[in-house]
Amino acid sequence: MITVRENIDLKPFNTFGIQARCDRWIDYTETSDIPEITKRYGTYRLLSIGGGSNLLFTRDFHGTIIHSRITGLKITKKGAVHTATIGAGERFDSVIDRCCDDGLWGIENLSGIPGDTGAAAVQNIGAYGVEIKDVIETVDCYDTLTGKFITLTCDDCGYGYRSSIFKNSDHRFIVTAITVRLNEKPSPRLEYAGLNNLSETGIRLTPHRVREEIIRLRDTKLPDPATIGNAGSFFKNPVLSAEEYDLFLKSAGGSGYTDIPHYDTPQGTKIPAAWLIEQSGFKGRITGNAGVWHKQPLVLINATGHATGQDITNLENEIIQSVYKNFGIHLHPEVEHI
Ligand SMILES: Cc1cc2nc3c(=O)[nH]c(=O)nc-3n(C[C@H](O)[C@H](O)[C@H](O)COP(=O)(O)OP(=O)(O)OC[C@H]3O[C@@H](n4cnc5c(N)ncnc54)[C@H](O)[C@@H]3O)c2cc1C
Repeated sequence: MITVRENIDLKPFNTFGIQARCDRWIDYTETSDIPEITKRYGTYRLLSIGGGSNLLFTRDFHGTIIHSRITGLKITKKGAVHTATIGAGERFDSVIDRCCDDGLWGIENLSGIPGDTGAAAVQNIGAYGVEIKDVIETVDCYDTLTGKFITLTCDDCGYGYRSSIFKNSDHRFIVTAITVRLNEKPSPRLEYAGLNNLSETGIRLTPHRVREEIIRLRDTKLPDPATIGNAGSFFKNPVLSAEEYDLFLKSAGGSGYTDIPHYDTPQGTKIPAAWLIEQSGFKGRITGNAGVWHKQPLVLINATGHATGQDITNLENEIIQSVYKNFGIHLHPEVEHI
């Protein structure tokens, strides 16, 4: 079913709580609605959004926003391995909850991340040492360029750190469903700081136990968008090549910084953007309507509830310039600017 509304206030549809309008908003419930929508309204300035938890509206959107309400969770079992096919419009955290209830391992570390299932695959969401690409088998989508429904394998999706073919193709693909691989056999991922003591508590570990702990940890650090507008981590953590990292260490060491946090990844050395922002003096700083969360400086907030997209981007630019001046590292936003 297709439901069309014109001239919509987007404030309730983005977790930053930014006031902006769009010309047209369409909810749809069936995959077959998509070709109908593109036939009626074209593909120019057609934007899929989910829960709006990784977006920043910097101005009104003159185009059509489409929102999947395709639901469904179908689990099939082959031995200990289960595959779950999930409609793009399902809230991903509810799916995690249901899979944990069934004792299935694989996505519990992604607990508490807001947003819809389609977007989870677009974003390659990640937390506590797990990314969704680790369990993705296939992604079903509609290719607006060819007008065909296609199924992509995980390799086809070109996943990287918060990136994918979907993120890099100018909204060409509309995700309709994803299939993930889960396991009955316990496979907890507890390497991440804060989780490793779980295995020492003596309580039998279940996916739900891990989920609860992750939600508890997240609640201590992150603002709830229902009360303070935000879009989670605003910046990506920079990843430096060996040569860049050497240069960075020399310059930071010369400025008196020691014990700089860092993580080795296959792509290079990851420096927490939160640390760079905190050292640049922004933690907890409020500038007009926009601010930096006092418990986690990677999160920019709509401090008064009245911030405009411009208020947030002004603060964003100030942070980027300051971190560059202090450390020679250019931060890039994770949040998509519309
Ligand atoms: C408090 C908070 C905590 C967060 N923590 C994390 C975290 O730990 N890890 C993490 O990775 N992210 C985190 N995020 C960011 C965000 O929740 C994720 O990126 C999430 O996947 C976005 O889902 P959404 O449905 O809100 O997508 P939206 O913000 O609506 O859209 C995100 C992108 O996906 C595209 N998109 C949406 N639906 C579709 C579709 N069906 N087909 C094609 N494209 C589509 C949009 O065009 C856009 O490019 C957090 C956000 C908040 C507010």
